[in-house]
Amino acid sequence: AVLGTGSVGTTLAAGFAAAGHDVHLGTRDPDSTLARPEPDLRAWLQQHQGVRLGTFAQAAGSSEVVVNATAGESSLQALQAAGADNLAGKVLIDVANPLDFSEGFPPRLFVQGTDSLGEQIQRAIPAARVVKTWNTMNAGLMLAPDRLDAPTAVFLSGDDMRAKEQVRDLQVSFGWRQIIDLGGIETARAAEML
Ligand code: NAP
Repeated sequence: AVLGTGSVGTTLAAGFAAAGHDVHLGTRDPDSTLARPEPDLRAWLQQHQGVRLGTFAQAAGSSEVVVNATAGESSLQALQAAGADNLAGKVLIDVANPLDFSEGFPPRLFVQGTDSLGEQIQRAIPAARVVKTWNTMNAGLMLAPDRLDAPTAVFLSGDDMRAKEQVRDLQVSFGWRQIIDLGGIETARAAEML
């Protein structure tokens, strides 16, 4: 499941589907999302026939691994809508950043230093196996590290070693080689601030 229909959600959904994964894209309300003129998700779905669109709960409930690609300030709401039961025991890859655009650009962070969005998500849904990763780069690189001229690194933060191994395997399958395990979910503070 990829929760989020922005540029990150659609880029990840397209990349996972192209690699042969069964992808369910999650949104608040599929009908109103499809009715939006921009971005034209109806056209996007026609180009990505393997991807299904559903509510956050439908997407999370039908999937083995869930990606949070929602706006950081709304991620807790989106994940509550996805449902704690639908996320229990699952790897929850969190790519969101705690960006606050209320005072314009560049954004500030609405949590930093002594806490992080990754930790807030892990506390809100204790049965999910949260792995913060991919948040330090543009969406276009997340599943295509070879687009850069020189190798770069991706970071992992999370309390569940097996979940991090699963995410690492997924990243290796997309060409990642420098995968740096920073430690527990509290290390998401550094990755989010970066
Ligand atoms: P975005 O515009 O930040 O978020 C879009 C998603 O957030 C949509 O799916 C939307 O739901 C959901 N959302 C917005 N308000 C909501 C609310 N009140 N309740 C529930 N859900 C809500 O999209 P993005 O630019 O693709 O970024 C996604 C995340 O990735 C962000 O946290 C961003 O900081 C992070 N990130 C982005 C990049 C990048 O290259 N852009 C790189 C690294 C990390 P609907 O589908 O229902 O509209």
